[in-house]
Amino acid sequence: MSWHVPGEVRSDLRDRLRTIPRLRVAHLPTPLEHCPRLSRALGGPEIFVKRDDCTGLAFGGNKARQLEFVIAEALGAGADTIVTGSGSQSNWCRQAAAMARKCGLDVSLVLATGEKGAQCQGNLLLDYLLGADVTFIESRDLHDVQMALADKVTQLRERGARPYLMNPFALETKSLAALGYVDAMLELQEQVSSVGVEPSHVYVPGANITPAGLLVGATALRIAVRITSFSPVRWQEDRRADIAAVASASAARLSLAADFPPGDISNDDSYVGERYGHLSDACADAMRLMADAEGIVLDPVYSGKAMAGLIDYIRSGRLTTRETVVFVHTGGTPALFAYAADLEARLVRVSSEREDQGPH
Ligand SMILES: *Cc1c(COP(=O)(O)O)cnc(C)c1O
Repeated sequence: MSWHVPGEVRSDLRDRLRTIPRLRVAHLPTPLEHCPRLSRALGGPEIFVKRDDCTGLAFGGNKARQLEFVIAEALGAGADTIVTGSGSQSNWCRQAAAMARKCGLDVSLVLATGEKGAQCQGNLLLDYLLGADVTFIESRDLHDVQMALADKVTQLRERGARPYLMNPFALETKSLAALGYVDAMLELQEQVSSVGVEPSHVYVPGANITPAGLLVGATALRIAVRITSFSPVRWQEDRRADIAAVASASAARLSLAADFPPGDISNDDSYVGERYGHLSDACADAMRLMADAEGIVLDPVYSGKAMAGLIDYIRSGRLTTRETVVFVHTGGTPALFAYAADLEARLVRVSSEREDQGPH
């Protein structure tokens, strides 16, 4: 297990990334934060958190790195309007709207009402503030979003606009977006080396673009680290084939000859809880522990559930105190405010328990 990477290997990957158009909008590098109080609270490995919740663009998150590549392509294509969509509390849409604004582009969003409906809170509130044109569809099915995206592009063209469709479900978009996390691995390798630790595992929320990009980066840099993604959704099919497909397509964009056998990919969907976007007890507990121990705020959809997974790995003895791990905080924190009612019951119960124990 070594994070030492020869200079020429680093510069080779850097040069390959430089061949792809990119904007420089995200606040980078993000901090790599040591979390000794969390380790102590869990009696577990040494934990570092890669603070990708601090990338800027209307409250941060992993989409900022991804969009630097995707919106650069939109600008290169001469677009004047970004068209994209997902759920009403989508972090992707919120950061796309912020980056579009920064680049002088209009933005049209197609949003499924999803778990949290059309309440003007969290990411949706920010979409409005950023001046996005929002179209709702009454559905939880993201395939319906894809159909509506195509209609939106047609309408905009008829009006004389030059729309650029960022379909977050298309391999073409995902493989381009994943380059942001190839670059993040270069950044992480440099930080890990300067701290002088050798993490055996990287844990990341999500089961898609972010783990695929990290995997390509680690492979290109020949870092023998185990990357495990914690899925926010329980899919019918095995996610590993999809992550492998995004990784392969992303590596191809960099002309890297690399193979990503799905069997070597580690993805865990045991911490989804009832369903995507629904707050689980384990997630609420993880959010509270992280806030208590380190003053770091996790989100209720992705990073809280992934941290619930890491906590369970530690408590069940899958990780020892001799190890060092990196947890990537992918952001999503604006969604927290759409979950106030779900969290309130749990948080208020805790404070009254504390009162029962007397003053301290
Ligand atoms: C989108 C998102 C993820 C998942 O990222 P992928 O790139 O799709 O793997 C994880 N965490 C947060 C907070 C997100 O918004």
